[in-house]
Amino acid sequence: MLHARNVRKHFGKVEVLKGIDLTVERGQVCCLLGPSGSGKSTFLRCINHLEKIDAGSLAVEGDLVGYRRHGQRLHELREREVAAHRRDIGMVFQRFNLFPHMTALDNVMEAPLNVSKVSRAQARQDAERLLEQVGLADRAGHYPAQLSGGQQQRVAIARALAMKPKLMLFDEPTSALDPELVGDVLDVMRQLAADGMTMIVVTHEIGFAREVADTAVFMDEGVVVEAGDPRQVLLHPEQERTRAFLSKVL
Ligand code: ADP
Ligand code: MG
Repeated sequence: MLHARNVRKHFGKVEVLKGIDLTVERGQVCCLLGPSGSGKSTFLRCINHLEKIDAGSLAVEGDLVGYRRHGQRLHELREREVAAHRRDIGMVFQRFNLFPHMTALDNVMEAPLNVSKVSRAQARQDAERLLEQVGLADRAGHYPAQLSGGQQQRVAIARALAMKPKLMLFDEPTSALDPELVGDVLDVMRQLAADGMTMIVVTHEIGFAREVADTAVFMDEGVVVEAGDPRQVLLHPEQERTRAFLSKVL
């Protein structure tokens, strides 16, 4: 589903990704961990075309997101291809980013109506089913301000799912939540994983990573320090940098 090879990205003189290799198979969950500033968000943004990579290759479902070598562009997607790609990738951010003037239901219906041009009846039916899936069937008519942070985040997940993505990216989806609201969001993600969704999740929730992830990846300063079975990486890390990080977040 995702193949990243030697992905590099710099901002000005600062190299933020220094050659990332990562493979995620269809139906797998990959958890990305690492200290603040290690490049996790930048990597997700590259996958989702919010940033362009400077070198290396990055392919989602066999289609290249970007492929360059020696500074020379070998493959450049056209705007329409990028748009098509982005529709296949759902993203959930730390901040929920819901439209404040729309109800939960309208937030979930918005993209299918405006981007996919499905009928209003179909979009509504799909959105109702998705809100039910995230445990919010009874909140369809509520505005974001009337929902808790955890409920807003679950609406954001439903909204991302409304475009029927093949790959879901989560960037610290529970980091902005009060501790008592984290569990419900993780439960929705756990169910999504059990249903076979391919997911890349940046999180500091070690318990979730250990339980749900097929692969855990520890990043630091733009490199993958250690990757593999989460029980190995998170319980018996080989690298000192991984150990030092885990001792701080656990
Ligand atoms: P993480 O998500 O692991 O905390 P980020 O990917 O957000 O790390 O950031 C990695 C580094 O890249 C940081 O030093 C950050 O300041 C820098 N960075 C991120 N985005 C930009 C940008 N648009 N312009 C300049 N520097 C950036
Ligand atoms: Mg980040």
